[in-house]
Amino acid sequence: MKMLINGELRDKKAKIEVINPYDNKLIDKVPEGSKEDVMDAIKAAKNAKKTMNDLSSRKIYEILFKISLKLKDNIDNFAELITLETGKPIKDSKEEIKRSIQTIELSAEESKRVYGETVPMDATIGGKGFIGFTIKIPLGVIGAITPFNYPINLALHKIAPAIATKNTIVIKPSSQAPLSLLKLGELFNEFLPPGAINIVTGSGGIIGDEIVKNTDVDKISFTGSVKTGISISKRAGLKKLTMELGGNDPLIVLNDADIEEAVLAATRGSYLFSGQVCIAVKRIILQNSIADDFLQKFVKKTRQLKVGDPMDPKTDIGPLIDENSAINVEKRVNNALKDGAELLCGGKRKANFYMPTVLDNVTSKMELVQEETFGPISPIIRVKDIDEALKVANDTKYGLQSGIFTQSIKNALKAAEKLDTGSVLINKQPTFRTDNMPFGGFKMSGIGKEGIKYAVEDMTKTKLVVINSN
Ligand code: NAP
Repeated sequence: MKMLINGELRDKKAKIEVINPYDNKLIDKVPEGSKEDVMDAIKAAKNAKKTMNDLSSRKIYEILFKISLKLKDNIDNFAELITLETGKPIKDSKEEIKRSIQTIELSAEESKRVYGETVPMDATIGGKGFIGFTIKIPLGVIGAITPFNYPINLALHKIAPAIATKNTIVIKPSSQAPLSLLKLGELFNEFLPPGAINIVTGSGGIIGDEIVKNTDVDKISFTGSVKTGISISKRAGLKKLTMELGGNDPLIVLNDADIEEAVLAATRGSYLFSGQVCIAVKRIILQNSIADDFLQKFVKKTRQLKVGDPMDPKTDIGPLIDENSAINVEKRVNNALKDGAELLCGGKRKANFYMPTVLDNVTSKMELVQEETFGPISPIIRVKDIDEALKVANDTKYGLQSGIFTQSIKNALKAAEKLDTGSVLINKQPTFRTDNMPFGGFKMSGIGKEGIKYAVEDMTKTKLVVINSN
């Protein structure tokens, strides 16, 4: 597949190989873009600003709506490509595309609601006789950088609101999973003026670096790891930043919880896409009195998961994105075991696969739960009461989402107040996102919010107009 720059597909001699994580076979090659390529893309995006700005909001709505219909016609093709390049189970890839369609629809709708407000100037001394109002104008060029795990929907959380607000965009996908986005780019390119959307493949250190530093880029919208996020913040200068970074989400289960429901939530939350999800359940915090009951049911559910070929519609757990990632998970589990954790099931690696694993008697000090562990691992931390549970839950540098199971409104409200995370889910796993909700973490998990309405707000600037009617 080829890059998309100024409305044209561009190839290069130098290539990046895209490998199927299931069998380590080559799927395709994409161009290894250079600094010149990304500079061309930024120039094209800059030049396309006026054309985009001249389009009516109605036209933008129609364009986005047509693209959503095209994607609807191609759910299976896009889902298969995601599964090939990421190893995501096909049923989850289909879910991603269904959500992606909604992400575009929501953006189409939001494109009709980009407007300012009137300002009551005469409420101040000196303001009498003045009429003030604000207008929302596009920022200009959005620079976007995305990770491997939701290659279409996370990219769309940047592309679709950028287009809805008449911005132009240059986006760099993950080098591990660039194919589905390149294919999606061709869909957008059918309907948009040249240069409105540009997709440049290549290394983070070259393509990403230029997007981050180039002064013709007005905003960086990044989704990825904390490490890359911090390095981007240091280089971005005075650009607006949205940072959607890593997570270490806790799921608390108290003694008054519906245990069956909590077990289902923990299973879905811990093992979705083999735990390679920013909002996966990364720590399960159990009140002592229900811990044994919960674990007996949870280990049974974990053992029932079907591990195997991600193209098989029955598969729950596919491979990790590459062998290094699986080795990293293996090391952290082994270290936790050395430090006193107890293996209840799993604990084995085979090439890129890591078996769904439950570990009891984990403590907050272990690297397995101090850092974000991107694998199908359920570390169990036992606590005596809600206060200890909340303390343990907050004992992390991350603050993306959190979940608590309890039947007590008092406990639920206490958790909502005390948990230091961007969202608190009550009687639901934190592995939950609707594409219109404000989404974004506290602490090291990020800066700003996505979710279409919130991204739209962040991709515009406010201009004030004052009329002297004295
Ligand atoms: P990553 O290693 O940080 O890479 C993300 C993107 O950054 C890739 O496109 C990468 O390019 C690029 N990049 C790497 N170095 C760069 C540099 N120096 N300058 C600019 N860009 C650079 O993350 P990942 O492993 O793909 O994804 C997993 C991480 O993303 C996890 O931490 C997960 O929690 C987080 N995530 C967060 C959210 C959220 O919404 N909060 C959602 C999904 C994932 P290359 O691929 O070419 O290296």
